[in-house]
Amino acid sequence: MGQNSLALYSKKRRLGIIGAGLGGITAALYARMQGWDVEVYERQNVPGGKMHSAAVEGQIFDQGPTVLTWPSLIDALFASAGKRREDYLELLKVDPQYHHNFTDGTKIEITSEDTGNSLIAQGFTTKEEWGAYQSLAQRYWDETSKYFLSRPWRPFDLLRPRMAYAGWRLDAHRRYGAIIDTLFSNRYLRHIMKYKSIYLGSEAATAPAAFLTMPYLEEKMGIWQPVGGLGQVTRSLEKLGKEIGISFYYNMTLTTLNEVKGKWLSTFSHDNSITLESFDAVVYAGDVMALRSIFPASISSIPQSPRPSSSAIIWHIPTYTKNELPHHSVWYPENPEQELKTIVRTQSIGNSNHTVYVVHRGATEKGVQGLYVLIPLPPLSISFDSWSKNSSSNLWEYAYEVLKKRIKISDNIAPANEWIPIDFAHKQLSYRGTIFGLAADFWQSAFFRPYNRIKKGLYLVGAGTQPGGGVPLVQISASFAINLLNKDFPT
Ligand SMILES: Cc1cc2nc3c(=O)[nH]c(=O)nc-3n(C[C@H](O)[C@H](O)[C@H](O)COP(=O)(O)OP(=O)(O)OC[C@H]3O[C@@H](n4cnc5c(N)ncnc54)[C@H](O)[C@@H]3O)c2cc1C
Repeated sequence: MGQNSLALYSKKRRLGIIGAGLGGITAALYARMQGWDVEVYERQNVPGGKMHSAAVEGQIFDQGPTVLTWPSLIDALFASAGKRREDYLELLKVDPQYHHNFTDGTKIEITSEDTGNSLIAQGFTTKEEWGAYQSLAQRYWDETSKYFLSRPWRPFDLLRPRMAYAGWRLDAHRRYGAIIDTLFSNRYLRHIMKYKSIYLGSEAATAPAAFLTMPYLEEKMGIWQPVGGLGQVTRSLEKLGKEIGISFYYNMTLTTLNEVKGKWLSTFSHDNSITLESFDAVVYAGDVMALRSIFPASISSIPQSPRPSSSAIIWHIPTYTKNELPHHSVWYPENPEQELKTIVRTQSIGNSNHTVYVVHRGATEKGVQGLYVLIPLPPLSISFDSWSKNSSSNLWEYAYEVLKKRIKISDNIAPANEWIPIDFAHKQLSYRGTIFGLAADFWQSAFFRPYNRIKKGLYLVGAGTQPGGGVPLVQISASFAINLLNKDFPT
C-alpha cells in the first residue's frame, strides 16, 4: 500500500511499539501501512538496537552484525510503502564472503559466485557431495519457507497431519551436525559448516537439521554490506517510517504494562520522570525474557528455564589504515571443536581457545578504514559473575596475538572501543548478554519458541520469538506479529 492511501485506511487505533531495533521498526512499518497510528518507544537515544553503527575516532563501526543476508526482505519492505530501497540504502555485495583459517595453515575461501565449483577447485569437496548438499538444502528450504517462515505455530499444531509430512521432509528426527557429517568428507569444511550453529547458541549436535538452510541462503542470496554500516539499514527504515507518519520517541524505557478495560496502560521512565500512555495494542520488540518483569501475566508464554544463545566481545580498531585484508577472516583456534562445546555446554569463557572474526569493511567500501574484531562467547551466568575484571584483557591479549602473529598486522592496533556481554545486557536489556536471543535448539524452535501473540492486544517481535534469531528471521517475526494483530482487530 502506498503512502497516499494510508489516510483512507486509517483505523485511528493507537499502536505502541516497544523497541526501535530492526524488529520493532519493521513491525511499525507493516502496521502503519495497514492503517494503524503507530508510535515507537526506544530506551536508547538512537534507533537500531543491536543493528547499530556509530563513529569511533572518526570512523563508522558496526556494533552488532556486519553483513546483511536475504536483502530482498528489505527491498520488499520499501516496495510495500511504494518506495525504492536504492533511494535510501546502498548495498554492496561481499565477495569472497569469508576467508577461513586453521592453525595448521589450511585456508578456505567461500566465494559468493559459484561457491561449489570454487570449493571443488580448492579441493575441499567434490561435485557429488556438493550436488547432494544442494538438493537436500533446497528441500529443507522449500519446506521451511512453506511452513515455518509463513506463519507462527503453537505446540498443539504439531497434531496436524501436514506437520507430520513437513517433519518428515525436514528430517525432524535428525540433527544438523549429523547431516553435515553425512554430506561432507573434508573435516575443515565440516567444521566451517558446523560452527555456524553458534548463531543459534547451540551445538551442531543438537541443532535441527533444517539449519542447513542457513549456509544455503548465504550462498544463494549472497551477503551484503550496506554503505555506511549495518546501522544504515535501521536508520533508513526509521526515515521511511517518519515519512509515512510513524512517531519515534527515544530515551523512553517501558517499565510496566497493564491491561485495563481493553486498553494497554504503559509506564515509561525517562529523564528521572514517568510518563503514562494508553494504547489499543502493544507490540513488544525488546528481549522477550525482560517482558516477564514488565508484564508478569506474560510468564506462561515465556520459558521458565530459558536456554540463552551465545554472546560476544567486540573491539573497534580505527588505526588500521592499510587495505590488505579480505572483508571477513575467521581464525579458528588449536582445538576448534572443543571451543563450541565450551561455549554451549559448560558456558565458561575458557582459556586461549577462541575463534577470532576480523572484519575489514574497507575491503568492500572505498575510503573506509579500521577493523572490527569479535570473539564469540557464552552467555553471562545469571548473576553475571562469569565475567571477571580480567576477562576483557585476557581476551584482548588472545585477539592481539592472532592479529600480530597470524595476520601479521604491523599497524598500531590498540582498540579504541570495546563491547562486552554486560553491555548487551545493560544497554539493550538483552537476557544474559546474548546476541541472538533464546538458543534455537530443538525444544526452543518452531512450535516451542514463544508465539508472537500473548493475548489480544499484546504481540511479540524479535530474536527470542518465532521464527527465530538473526536478521532475516527478526524481520519475519514482525510480519507474524502484525498479521496476528490485524486478525484481532479487523477493519
Ligand atoms: C555482535 C553481534 C553480531 C551479530 N551477528 C549477526 C549476524 O552475523 N547475522 C545475523 O543474522 N544476526 C546477527 N546478530 C543478531 C542480530 O543483530 C539481531 O538478531 C537483531 O538485530 C535483533 O533485532 P531485534 O529488533 O530483535 O532486537 P534488538 O536489536 O535488541 O532491539 C531491541 C530494542 O528494544 C529496546 N528495548 C528493550 N527493552 C526496552 C524497553 N523496556 N523499553 C524501550 N525500549 C526497549 C532496546 O534498547 C533495543 O534497541 C548479531 C548481533 C550482535 C550483537
